[in-house]
Amino acid sequence: MKLILLGPPGAGKGTQAAKIAERYSLAHISTGDMLRAEIASKTPLGIKAKSLIDSGELVPDEIIVGMVQNRIQQPDCQNGFLLDGFPRTIAQAENLLGFSDIDCAVCITVPDEEIIDRMARRRVCPVCKNTYSVDVNSAEHFFCEACGAELVARDDDKPETVKHRLDVYAAQTFPLVNFFREKGLLEEVCGSGTVDEVAQSIFKILEK
Ligand code: ADP
Ligand code: ADP
Ligand code: ZN
Repeated sequence: MKLILLGPPGAGKGTQAAKIAERYSLAHISTGDMLRAEIASKTPLGIKAKSLIDSGELVPDEIIVGMVQNRIQQPDCQNGFLLDGFPRTIAQAENLLGFSDIDCAVCITVPDEEIIDRMARRRVCPVCKNTYSVDVNSAEHFFCEACGAELVARDDDKPETVKHRLDVYAAQTFPLVNFFREKGLLEEVCGSGTVDEVAQSIFKILEK
């Protein structure tokens, strides 16, 4: 299976990708995670990407396309892969279809108000990169269930940056919904239920 997960920031792509990848033994390829790893290692690519990511802009297509093309040649992608956060522009999608076939693009849809709330709650573990949703009204500190590290907010999850990311999504990424629909590859899922409800609707689509 070669899958794409589409959807606005905060739709739950990363959360669902982990479940789908585990169930079908697919390599989970998150371009956001790959870029954050480059930033953490202070590579030239990471240094270039950081200011773009923090301001809610996209990283240039050439950089991302090369990164994904290399990644899907790795042995763990032999059994299939799940792209989370890629493609994000029509140019990326056209490049992708030039070097790989794709079985299905699943688009997770969530209303904007819910996205703003989810992003305000999102915290990540700086060590294992697990994502959590916390109570923002609590004065408590939060810790990773897996490793105990203190959870942090992403630099690009500030409300003003989130608003800009939603505009960037509407202008540059949303057109992919039609792009994949016209190719007969699109499946749409409502992302508003619980994590398990959304996962069940995705499994149902993939198993039909
Ligand atoms: P989210 O989980 O909110 O959808 P990601 O973790 O996928 O966000 O991506 C974070 C940021 O990394 C994006 O806002 C963008 O700056 C950059 N990025 C990730 N994937 C891509 C891509 N395919 N093309 C361009 N930029 C990307
Ligand atoms: P994306 O990768 O699309 O940006 P994430 O998977 O990181 O989205 O989810 C964004 C935030 O919303 C996280 O804090 C996550 O824990 C939370 N979240 C994910 N799915 C749901 C859901 N179905 N209901 C409520 N919160 C969710
Ligand atoms: Zn952890």
